[in-house]
Amino acid sequence: MTIPGLFQTTPLLISSILTYAVKAHPKRKVVSRLVDEPIFHYDYESFGKRTAQAVQALDRLGVKSGDRVTSMAWNTHRHLELFYGVPGMGCVLHTANPRLSDEQIIYTVNHAESRVLLFDRTFIPLIERLRGAFKTVETYILLAAGDEPGYLNYESLIAAESGDYHWPQFDENAGAFLCYTSGTTGDPKGVLYSHRGVVLHAMAGGMNSAFGFTAFDVVMPCSSLYHANAWGLPFSAPLCGSAMVLPCDKMDGGSLHELIEGEGVTFTGGVPTIWTMYLAWLDQAGKVPASLKTIVIGGSAVPRAMAETFSRLYGVNVRQLWGMTETAPIGVVSTPTPELAALGDESMNDAIWTRQGRIQFGIELEVTDDDGKPVPHDGETSGALKVRGPWTIQRYYRKDEDCVDADGWFDTGDIATLDALGFMRITDRSKDVIKSGGEWISSIDLENVAVGCPGVKIAAVVGVPHPKWEERPLLVIETHENVTVTRDEVLHYLASRIVKWWTPDDVVFAPVPLTATGKIDKKVLRVAYRDHLTAEKS
Ligand code: ADP
Repeated sequence: MTIPGLFQTTPLLISSILTYAVKAHPKRKVVSRLVDEPIFHYDYESFGKRTAQAVQALDRLGVKSGDRVTSMAWNTHRHLELFYGVPGMGCVLHTANPRLSDEQIIYTVNHAESRVLLFDRTFIPLIERLRGAFKTVETYILLAAGDEPGYLNYESLIAAESGDYHWPQFDENAGAFLCYTSGTTGDPKGVLYSHRGVVLHAMAGGMNSAFGFTAFDVVMPCSSLYHANAWGLPFSAPLCGSAMVLPCDKMDGGSLHELIEGEGVTFTGGVPTIWTMYLAWLDQAGKVPASLKTIVIGGSAVPRAMAETFSRLYGVNVRQLWGMTETAPIGVVSTPTPELAALGDESMNDAIWTRQGRIQFGIELEVTDDDGKPVPHDGETSGALKVRGPWTIQRYYRKDEDCVDADGWFDTGDIATLDALGFMRITDRSKDVIKSGGEWISSIDLENVAVGCPGVKIAAVVGVPHPKWEERPLLVIETHENVTVTRDEVLHYLASRIVKWWTPDDVVFAPVPLTATGKIDKKVLRVAYRDHLTAEKS
C-alpha cells in the first residue's frame, strides 16, 4: 500500500513553458518569415505579451474553455502564438493540414467542430472555396498585417488588448491539440494531445538523448507546425532557452540558407525531401552552412548518402527520428552512446545513420511476432512495432473504443527490429500507405479509384523509392482478358477523381501477384519494382 507524496501537484500546462521562457530567457530571439511580409524579429518577452493579447482577443470574441479553434497556417510567429495561446486558455488548437484534399479538410474542421478558423493569406482562396461547407465555424480571422474585406484581422484584434493576462490553471490531462492523420483508408483520424503529454514530450525532446538543446542553440523547425506540432520543437526550444527561427512555407534551398546564415541557425529538422533539395542547392551555389551543427531528419527513412554528405562535407551531425502523429511524435532518436563510440567513428556513424534511433525515456517500445509475443532484441528478428507512454495515443477523437491493447500497447503499423543497445530499425510497413515528401497517400484509396477504370481487372498500388520524394506511387494493372487499356486512358480516368499529387508516377501493365488468401501481394510487387523509378527517372 503506497502513501501519498507531499509535493505540490502543479499541473503540467503548455502555458508554463511560455511563462518560463519569458522569465528566464526574455531577450532570446524569435525570427519569422511571413507570407508577403518582411522577416519579423522579436523575443520571448514580446512573444509572451502578444500571445496573451491573442487570448484576450479570442476571449472577447466569446471563445470558451474547451472550444476547438482551427489554424491553417505555415511556420510563423503568429502560428506559434496560437500554439501557446489557444491551449493556454483551455481550448484545443486543431492544426489543419492544407495539403489534404478539400473533402478531407472539410471533414476535419467539421469533425473538430471548430468555432474559429485562423488562416494565413495564402489560404484565402481555400477558405472562399470551402467556408460554405464548414458547419460550425462562426469566426474567420486572417493572420496578416493588412486587412482583407470579409474577415477579422489578427493584428487589429490583438492591438486592442493589453496583454495583461493570468494563465488559467486546469487539469493537465485536458486536450490541447487536435492533429488529424490521414494515412490509412477512410476518413482522417483525430489525435487529441493532452497538456501533460505535450509538456513531458517537450522535456524529453530537449534532453541530450534526443535533440540536446542549450540556451546557445538557434532552432529552426522545418517540419510543418501542422504535422505533429513540428516534432515538438516549438516547445522544446523555449523550454531549453534556445532561440527560434520560423521559415514560413519557404523550404527551398536558397530561402533556408538565407535564414541559416543570417540567423546563425545551429539546429534544424525536417523530412528527407527538404534536405535533398538543400544539399543540391549548397552544391550548386558553392555555399556552406557554417553555423549548423545538427539536423534531425525523420518522417521517412534517412538515405545513408544524405547523412554522410552532411557529415563529411559540412561537419553537420545527422540524427534520425522515428515517430508518428499518434506519438506526438517522438518515438526514437538516433543519438550516440558510449557503447557505440567504443566501436569507432565509422561503426558509430553507420549505426546512427542506418537505424531510426534509440529508445527514449517516456516512450516504451516492443516488437512482437504474429502471436503477439516479444521477439528477441537481436537487431535481426523483426515484428510488429508497438509503443506506449504518456505521449502515446489511447483513443482517437470521438471514437468509442481505445486503439491500444489491454496493456496499453499501440500498434504502429511499422515492422521493426530492436537490438541489445536499444536501437530500433524499421524494416517494412504493414499499413498500406505511401509517404511522399512527408505526406501520406493511401494506396487502398488509389486502388479503389483505379479499379473503376473500364477494362481494369485488378489495380495494385505500391510505394516505390524515388530520388526526390522518398516514395512515389506506382500503379500495377491487370486488365480483363482480351481488353487493351492504355497508360493515358488510366491517367485520364484518375485525373478528375484524385488530388493531383496522388497521380501514380508510372502505370505498369502486368499480372498482379496474389497471396494464398487472395490479397494483393504487395511484398512481391515492392521487390519487383524497387528500382523502377530510380532507374528510369531522377
Ligand atoms: P509524421 O507527421 O511525424 O511524419 P505520421 O503519423 O504522418 O507522422 O507518420 C508516421 C509514420 O511515418 C511512421 O509510422 C512510419 O511509417 C513513418 N516514419 C516516420 N519516421 C520514419 C523514419 N525515420 N524512418 C522510416 N519511416 C518513418
